[in-house]
Amino acid sequence: LNPTPMLNELESGPWPSFVSGFKELAERTKKPMLRGVLDQLEYSYNTKMGYWKGGLVTVDGYGAGVITRYSMIKDKIPEAAEFHTMRIQPAPGLHYNTAMMRELCDIWEKYGSGIITLHGQTGDIMLQGIEEKYVQQCFDELNEAGWDLGGAGAGMRTAVSCIGPGRCENACYDNLNLHLKALKHFVGVLHRPEWNYKLKFKFSGCPNDCTNAIMRSDLAVIGTWKDAIQIDRDEVTAWVEKKGMDALVNQVINLCPTRAISLKDGEMHIETRDCVRCMHCLNAMPKALSPGKERGISLLMGGKNTLKVGVNMGSLIIPFMKMESDEDVEAFIEQIETIIEWWEDAGLDHERIGETIERVGLKQFIEGAGIEADINMVSRPRDNPYFKAPY
Ligand code: SF4
Ligand code: SF4
Repeated sequence: LNPTPMLNELESGPWPSFVSGFKELAERTKKPMLRGVLDQLEYSYNTKMGYWKGGLVTVDGYGAGVITRYSMIKDKIPEAAEFHTMRIQPAPGLHYNTAMMRELCDIWEKYGSGIITLHGQTGDIMLQGIEEKYVQQCFDELNEAGWDLGGAGAGMRTAVSCIGPGRCENACYDNLNLHLKALKHFVGVLHRPEWNYKLKFKFSGCPNDCTNAIMRSDLAVIGTWKDAIQIDRDEVTAWVEKKGMDALVNQVINLCPTRAISLKDGEMHIETRDCVRCMHCLNAMPKALSPGKERGISLLMGGKNTLKVGVNMGSLIIPFMKMESDEDVEAFIEQIETIIEWWEDAGLDHERIGETIERVGLKQFIEGAGIEADINMVSRPRDNPYFKAPY
């Protein structure tokens, strides 16, 4: 390896450094492209400039294409001339077994750099670093092993879901099932993009994941409940005995953002109409409190960090929808299709759905999507604990 004094600085901190990982892989595999990328990164750090330009490589059987990274300084560092990225579609809930992962790693080390980023902003498994001449073979072998590429281009993009009812008692609907059904339904548009621009789903089992869902997708499907939070009185008593009354007041009651919790005759009381399902109290007292029994989803549309119009919270277009049966799933998909049809007509080229809604107004959108206006359709709610400046 060539000396990389700037990059070496990154190895001196308390956390494991990606630079050490790159070096280890480069030494072990002797792949010239890894050495080249380290050299190019060092060069970038010195000049404070990035030198990758993008595009698409197409492969047979997948019209969306593979994202390319061509080096703009290949005359200086020819080993890093091509470092394309293959995005692999994750399983709902990110359920894998070790045999699948080993096979994926083996195929990737055979054709590509061996560098893998798990579930970044796109939600995909990012296989980073392959030359164009190997893309088709790599794609074919990944397909054989049961993997598919994630979305690219102006169509359905990779959806992501939390582990949901696979492991978590907070799950308010079977988000893994809905993710799988939606993926199967829209897989044609995922492979052959034909919309105005990209569209992403995120399926969160409960509101704990809501910010993540809204910031990472155009269509955030978030589990919620309609009725009262379930309170196990014995567990509340056990919690208070262990942590004390002060903890109940200071760590739970006083931190409820809408002051929905109070003590009545020494007993914990939650005023359901004031609760905004923020999950704080349920997270603080997981055994004592759980989501209500009448569970379903809320659908927020048009969010994302960052759109051309800035950071968008998304509009709560369907405050509550049951998600228990196959009919509920079909109704959901039908609703999404109507929305997409509207967007295909009303949207401009390269305009995400949140930008279209922002431009034409919510009124026109809900009319076009055949949704009844509801007081809960807010694009700027009264409480938002998450602020992030546009950049
Ligand atoms: Fe559980 Fe909610 Fe987290 Fe999903 S988002 S894993 S349902 S706590
Ligand atoms: Fe308050 Fe949030 Fe608990 Fe609702 S979920 S009662 S808003 S802390």
